[in-house]
Amino acid sequence: MAEAGTGGVLIVGEMAAASAGGGLRPAAFELVTAGRAVAAGLGTSLIGLLFGTGAGDAARAWGAAGIDRVLVVEDDRLDGAPAQAATVAVARAVAETQPRVVLIPGTTAGRDYAPRLAARLDVGLAADCIALAVDASGLVATRPIFGGRVQTDVRFPESRPQVATVRPGSFDKADASAGAGPEPEPLDVELGPDDLHVTIRELRAADRGAAGLADARTVVAGGRGLKEPDNFRLVEDLAGVLGAAVGASRAVVDAGWRPHHEQVGQTGQTVAPRLYVAVGISGAVQHLVGMQGADYIVAVNRDPDAPIFKTASFGIVGDLFEVVPAITQALRG
Ligand SMILES: Cc1cc2nc3c(=O)[nH]c(=O)nc-3n(C[C@H](O)[C@H](O)[C@H](O)COP(=O)(O)OP(=O)(O)OC[C@H]3O[C@@H](n4cnc5c(N)ncnc54)[C@H](O)[C@@H]3O)c2cc1C
Repeated sequence: MAEAGTGGVLIVGEMAAASAGGGLRPAAFELVTAGRAVAAGLGTSLIGLLFGTGAGDAARAWGAAGIDRVLVVEDDRLDGAPAQAATVAVARAVAETQPRVVLIPGTTAGRDYAPRLAARLDVGLAADCIALAVDASGLVATRPIFGGRVQTDVRFPESRPQVATVRPGSFDKADASAGAGPEPEPLDVELGPDDLHVTIRELRAADRGAAGLADARTVVAGGRGLKEPDNFRLVEDLAGVLGAAVGASRAVVDAGWRPHHEQVGQTGQTVAPRLYVAVGISGAVQHLVGMQGADYIVAVNRDPDAPIFKTASFGIVGDLFEVVPAITQALRG
């Protein structure tokens, strides 16, 4: 590993809410993979920052995934990464480590505090990146534009540091079982009243199915092919036997069949499960950008020319009202 010092790559981890079991969110390990590659390209070290309750213990496992130096702020006022306080904490870590690049998870919280951090540091921000590279100008951040139809490479060499948010599911998770990591270093962060106008006192899943959609290992999602809201029980039943979270296309969310927090896609959640089952979903590009990071995609659609079949690992051409109950029944045994 490169020696840890100034000019490194700083990655910011994220803890799951206590109600979701606590610990590190998968996005934290994806940033290790992303950050290590950028650090190697720049010939520099990888530094991690973790804050909130339990950050110290979590930082050991995180560091073992391949981080050279890990800073921790054990402060429950940073739980859930409230934007103002998180901005102060990351800015403090930037002042401490003088990194060349800062990578922030493109989660709900990260998307909130990253622009504030960039404004505070008076530097550029590349948002929602799906790939990262390094050339003579420094970081090259690839991000989708025009609803995901086009990808653009962003270079902003005059920025120091170069700040980017990384879309969850865009990188493989680094393996934390590699051995011992560095001893976490406490970082002092002063939070004044002005930094605490917003504090997150509790994070709660809104209702069944919403819990952990972004981090779920299995997702069963339904679309307009279900014809009417009550038929979503077919999706819920299959999700139930698979232990999966329920997702939805925008068409059914806009129709008021499902809550927005279940929407997968460009204007909804990005998911990267092991298995994604798409039921009666056509596969519009705006939906695909939210789920194409799944390891396996199974699509059920009666139209053999539906675009979803171009992305699916396994396709079932058939009537979902016959196919889905049959799968659920078979799995119930
Ligand atoms: C700026 C912008 C942002 C957007 N963001 C999102 C987003 O975040 N997420 C998102 O999902 N969409 C998004 N969209 C909308 C997107 O373009 C599509 O309109 C939407 O994804 C379509 O939803 P759908 O697949 O459920 O419906 P449809 O496109 O109507 O597809 C329904 C499918 O069901 C199949 N079907 C019908 N009956 C049966 C049956 N009995 N058995 C099996 N299959 C059947 C049909 O063959 C069809 O393929 C966005 C659009 C725009 C312009």
